[in-house]
Amino acid sequence: MRYSDYVSTKKTPQSEPIFGTTNQVENNAGGFVYKVSKWDQLLRFLILGSAGGTYYVGERKLTIENAQVVIDCLAEDAAKTVEIIAGVSSKGRAPKNDSAIFALALACCNTVQANKVYAYRALPQVLRTGTHLFQFVADIQNLRGWSRGLRSAVSRWYTQNPNVEYQLAKYQNRHGWTHKDVMRLSHPTPKNDTQADLFKLVVGKGQPTENTPVFAAMQALKVAETSHAVAAEIVKGNRLSREMVPTEYQNKPFMQDALLHSMPIGALIRNLGAYSASGFLSSPLTPQVQYVCDMLRNVDVLQKGRVHPYSVLEAMVTYSAGRGVKGKLTWTPVQAIVDALNDAFYLAFQSVEATNKRHLLAIDVSGSMTCAAIGGGNLSAAAAAAAMALVTANVEKNAEIVGFSTKSNHSNPADNLIVPLAISPRNRIDDAMLTIAKVPFGRTDCSLPIMYAMQKRLIVDAFVIYTDNETYAGPIHVSQALAEYRSKFNPNAKLVVVGMTATDFSVADENDSGCLNIVGFDTSAPAVITEFVK
Ligand code: CA
Repeated sequence: MRYSDYVSTKKTPQSEPIFGTTNQVENNAGGFVYKVSKWDQLLRFLILGSAGGTYYVGERKLTIENAQVVIDCLAEDAAKTVEIIAGVSSKGRAPKNDSAIFALALACCNTVQANKVYAYRALPQVLRTGTHLFQFVADIQNLRGWSRGLRSAVSRWYTQNPNVEYQLAKYQNRHGWTHKDVMRLSHPTPKNDTQADLFKLVVGKGQPTENTPVFAAMQALKVAETSHAVAAEIVKGNRLSREMVPTEYQNKPFMQDALLHSMPIGALIRNLGAYSASGFLSSPLTPQVQYVCDMLRNVDVLQKGRVHPYSVLEAMVTYSAGRGVKGKLTWTPVQAIVDALNDAFYLAFQSVEATNKRHLLAIDVSGSMTCAAIGGGNLSAAAAAAAMALVTANVEKNAEIVGFSTKSNHSNPADNLIVPLAISPRNRIDDAMLTIAKVPFGRTDCSLPIMYAMQKRLIVDAFVIYTDNETYAGPIHVSQALAEYRSKFNPNAKLVVVGMTATDFSVADENDSGCLNIVGFDTSAPAVITEFVK
């Protein structure tokens, strides 16, 4: 026997930690990987959330783990933590605002008064709509009581909000809360006559006045004899939102027309199905379809509306299927709109310029990535990863996209599977995602893309691996394969790991300056990859 056969630092099975390392942890699949910093995990939680859990970890456990990370970050630096929460939320970097709202509620529970103040001040940045406010209050109610500081922070949401009437009218009741309930707890004092009239109205003690034109318009719509033409004028004249219109009108083409031009882009994207089902959106030759397509291709509109690429992706999958996720609604999709959604997906990411470096974009298509949905949504993590890879491939012309997985017996190298994926930015995203769904999947070995590059003698500047980091089935660690690749082919090869779940580990070693962890579906992810690779 040779002693060093058992304690080699150059080739260790993934089921064992690398001899001599101190920063490796066991993942949920029994493989050893690197622990990420709590700040990196905070970002993963804020962007990906814990809804739906992962393939390995249930929603409850994953949420508790991430709540603890928020608490740990707050304990180390409350100001920095709140700044990160508010930044991710207000820049629209996450598909959903839920985890930022929850994290902010946790920040309001700090035992140090001065630290709570950071959180109170960030309320308007994170709670931008009435729904966000209700969600926050529901979280608070599970976590703590109402102090004077919290009361005045929530009061300020009402008294310092420039669009308060619109917010009160649009979101009257969500998450089991009404503004009446929230006002009863926070006691906002009106700053002027308009607010006085508005707050009275909300608690059911007044009638709409000239100070409350939105509520007056909503009341006028309820008058039985109002004709369609008059109703449409009221809606347009006051720029009412869909929620402010009586339900029986909402899906009528005359009302859809009246609502269209003042509809926020996010709402427009959510309502494409309903608009097509009613026949309002039908032919690409109509001005209505042209208007919708123009909006979807308008970068300013998308950015101002904080349209997240993941929401575009979900909307695209649902819309092109011609059937609502929950309801019974069906429609014939307008292909021009599907194409415009495809463009909107790319436009919704922060824009990047090509580095002209050689990229191997490798998507983990193992069981845990293909079975689990990202953030409790309806797309698999692997399909979402494919969409992310296309964003980089759309910019970088020197790129190959592969999928990797292993068959049952990983000891036989022939069973290791690198699947060249026949997808490119010239494919529509939804077609590319279908291609991913057809790849046979198996066990996970994240070193495969690097082994593949060695076997094919490919010169790669950047390995970008999209994974949940639940790797266990390889005979060599990713960091060891990378070291070997660097010594044989390209000493400057970099590794970017795009984490697709809110866990606390990664195949990338943060002590290696040639490695970077980023979060899947962060709108700034492609830009961060480019900056790092450059
Ligand atoms: Ca896996």
